[in-house]
Amino acid sequence: MNDTQAPLLVVDRMTKHFPLGKGRTVHAVDGVSLTIDEREIVGLVGESGSGKSTFGKALIGLHEKTGGRVSYRGEVLPQSYAPSDFRRLATTMQMIFQDPYSSLNPRMTVGEIIGEGLRLHSRLSASDVRDRVADWLKRVGLSPDYMSRYPHEFSGGQRQRIGIARALIMEPEFVVCDEPISALDVSVQAQVVNLLEELQQGMGLTLLFIAHDLSMVRHVSDRMAVMYLGALAEIGPAHDVFFDPKHPYTQILIASNPEPDPASERERRSASISGEIPSPVNIGPGCRFAGRCPHVMDTCRSTTPLLTPLADAPDRQVACHLYR
Ligand code: SF4
Repeated sequence: MNDTQAPLLVVDRMTKHFPLGKGRTVHAVDGVSLTIDEREIVGLVGESGSGKSTFGKALIGLHEKTGGRVSYRGEVLPQSYAPSDFRRLATTMQMIFQDPYSSLNPRMTVGEIIGEGLRLHSRLSASDVRDRVADWLKRVGLSPDYMSRYPHEFSGGQRQRIGIARALIMEPEFVVCDEPISALDVSVQAQVVNLLEELQQGMGLTLLFIAHDLSMVRHVSDRMAVMYLGALAEIGPAHDVFFDPKHPYTQILIASNPEPDPASERERRSASISGEIPSPVNIGPGCRFAGRCPHVMDTCRSTTPLLTPLADAPDRQVACHLYR
């Protein structure tokens, strides 16, 4: 996109909290701001429990937002979606889910699953829906003859292809891919990633690609955002974040990445992240990573670091007092 074009999506200090009662609150997403340009792929990484999936679901209305706002093509989206909002936005935003086993209704045929959105949200005739479903089965590398079969008759990789067809048949502009390969055998992960890349380029899609595998995210994404305990630790061009991470959490996360990049330009370091990600309940002031950070200073425990552009690389932002 050129420099004067407005971002497709603007997320401004979005929060998603889950009250637990007795004054306790889970701060699953806590003031996240980012923009996504048209046709851009932003990879979102972080440990389990960092709030990545909750963020993705709140972005497209599957969770009610607690605070902040999300704008799409300049339109501020509702905090809580009514059925009419889902209908209106079905051809704009879609989600590809993590688990192809639980996200497909086992009592529906593949044709019913893939065509459901069109039946609900378009005026196409039944035969036109059927033709579109057959076309999409071919586009994701499956036979149109599979239309009358049920999800249990397919492998994990095939089910994820069905999930991709179900989302993309609506011809959305923006898709949240929520760990789309993490439930699949390693042998088919690359095939599904290649399929997503092909479709992204062919359809001009904009993607938020949530994943654990940093090498793969580096490979497919334009920018990489790193999330820790509900907040962004770092964001920047994917290559730069991967090969020259700035935030101590990103450095440890990348050094302990279980899937080293086969064409690595960087020597894999032997560091590993220690301890569990802390509870997101009633988070206090200071840096969220202070309890695990090898560089922690006194100020880190009292003052929350803000996501700030680096002086020598303004396209990169880091939330750490080391870069003040
Ligand atoms: Fe570590 Fe302090 Fe930076 Fe947090 S702000 S990552 S504790 S150095």
